[in-house]
Amino acid sequence: MSLIKYRKKRSFKTSPEPPGDTKGRTHKSLLYVVQKHRASQLHYDFRLEFNGVLLSWAVPKGPSLDPSVKRLAMQVEDHPVEYANFEGVIPEGEYGGGTVMVWDTGSWLPEQEEVAAALTKGDLKFTLRGKKLRGSWVLVRTRGFGRSSGKSWLLIKHRDRHASKIDITRKQPKSVLTKRLLADIARAEGGDVSKAATGDPMPSKEALRAAELGSRASRKV
Ligand code: MN
Repeated sequence: MSLIKYRKKRSFKTSPEPPGDTKGRTHKSLLYVVQKHRASQLHYDFRLEFNGVLLSWAVPKGPSLDPSVKRLAMQVEDHPVEYANFEGVIPEGEYGGGTVMVWDTGSWLPEQEEVAAALTKGDLKFTLRGKKLRGSWVLVRTRGFGRSSGKSWLLIKHRDRHASKIDITRKQPKSVLTKRLLADIARAEGGDVSKAATGDPMPSKEALRAAELGSRASRKV
């Protein structure tokens, strides 16, 4: 676990992302965060703090609360713990250019005593105490192909009282830090608003109509 790969990919002069503290961080509970990231492809970055860094997986479809659904999770480079608070815009042309939202945050608890051994084995069971994701989950390494060999995992919800058929990514699309959608973050921080908006759920016809009526009403004032 180190931040060498993470730093190599980024220019901290151009991107507002944190370079990270080399010493890492020491505190009682382990951080958990999911960042929704509208880069070249929309994905959810699933991160678990371990040994002073954030172990990271990119989940293209995001997590599912349904235990019968397995979500592909590609392991990516470890990130600094400070990254957990990063919400904003990575400049286009930079690594991961696009809008980042803190979609969920909280703490996690390993369900096995030896986390390092579980990671090596490719079978990590854990409990999430987030605002959106809770209860027991597992990350299982799969075979993968070619370049993705060894990096493909599946993120699966275990059966417990937090399991559900609710589509959590659609039902709760906003930032847990600021209640903003991706488009709101892009608009506020100088990002590409229309690109970011493609990562937000399509507004319903009723919502579009209400917005239209609202803007008509405000024009009259
Ligand atoms: Mn990402």
